[in-house]
Amino acid sequence: MATYRAVVVSKEGKGPASRSIVKYSDPSELPFHDDSADVLVQVSHSALNYKDGLVLTGAPGVAKKFPIVPGIDFAGKVLQSRSAQFSAGQSVVLTGHYAGQWMDGGYCDVVWAKSSWLVALPEFLTEREAMIIGTAGFTAMQCVMHLEKYGGLARGEKGPVLVTGAAGGVGSVAVAILSHLGYQVHASTGRVEEQEAYLKKLGAKKVIGRLAKSKPLNKEVYVGVVACVGGHGLATALASVQYGCAVASCGLAADSKLPATVMPFILRGVKLLGIDSVQAPMEERKAVWEALRTSLPAAVLNDLATVYSLDDLVGNLGERIIKGQTRGRGIVDMALGRADQVSVEEKKKVDQLEDKLNAYKMSAPAVLTSVGVSAKDSSPMPHVKVNISSMLLVSNL
Ligand code: NDP
Repeated sequence: MATYRAVVVSKEGKGPASRSIVKYSDPSELPFHDDSADVLVQVSHSALNYKDGLVLTGAPGVAKKFPIVPGIDFAGKVLQSRSAQFSAGQSVVLTGHYAGQWMDGGYCDVVWAKSSWLVALPEFLTEREAMIIGTAGFTAMQCVMHLEKYGGLARGEKGPVLVTGAAGGVGSVAVAILSHLGYQVHASTGRVEEQEAYLKKLGAKKVIGRLAKSKPLNKEVYVGVVACVGGHGLATALASVQYGCAVASCGLAADSKLPATVMPFILRGVKLLGIDSVQAPMEERKAVWEALRTSLPAAVLNDLATVYSLDDLVGNLGERIIKGQTRGRGIVDMALGRADQVSVEEKKKVDQLEDKLNAYKMSAPAVLTSVGVSAKDSSPMPHVKVNISSMLLVSNL
């Protein structure tokens, strides 16, 4: 019988949270199985988001109940489905509903999920790439789409677009998307020295420190803002956008308060756009994934990602993301650390090779030949002790 692994966070009353890896042979053994979950998913990748940090550390208000398997987003393959929408073998993605909060999430090998929360994996992404994007990347794309649709931001605009909390998950993807779309990105971070090279590699034209508290109206600088932080950072952003432009507010890093005045709204026609990925309607979800196809180059994804295992999650990653000590997108690879799997370094090499092939596949009109390759025979990486069961070899004839 198969043995699966899950990260479980437990908490008694107001006591401290404890994290452990539990083994199970049937997903119904997980703490939060819900009968309305009708699709059984073999998770290949999950991710580390700010909200996951709150659940991992047992913060109140995010997880409905403990014990719980955290992981607000995941990608994987359908093993069984009671929904006509999905069938076994299909790749699916779940971002930003209530997995990992109200019911078990993605920090496990196999989990029941609600079909109404799943989308089919966009065909231009691998499961791993979908998780590098994840809830944070989805939200970043939503911010940009809302700025363009409701905030007057237009392609070809020469004025600067600001991203706050730029070295975090949402911020990093927003920097990459906006830069790719041709905007002049100013990245605001509390870690200028440490993260300037990273943010410039993602395309930022200028890297600045965190926004200080300001007057109700500042010099008009920005033509749009993706605001991952609340508090004074958001108030100062509002005070610093140009006439008629907008701030997309998606995050509360730093503070959930908004210590601002109405001056930017009534004297400059500034707009404050609220962004929510959790309850975004399915039509918007599909549009966001579709927009990501052309707005975020595959080649950038690896620059955004740090790969973690389930074992890492029971360490102090939760505390680190809450303190703003992680960078870009943390993804969780279920294969890492499993007894029957390869070492972390070997798996990363295989992933990089697959990413390169995928990027090439996406960029070149090509003839695709599906070839089964195994380490025993013709592995392109003979030192890797893993069967690469199906690898696409691309020949550009
Ligand atoms: P990360 O932790 O990856 O990024 C947050 C970033 O905010 C940090 O990297 C840091 O950036 C900055 N930051 C952290 N603490 C402070 C502080 N005290 N003062 C100022 N800046 C700070 O989180 P995510 O990117 O996953 O999420 C960012 C925010 O967006 C969170 O508040 C999250 O809850 C929210 N969110 C909202 C969603 C929605 O649907 N509306 C969906 C996803 C996320 P730096 O080091 O560059 O300063």
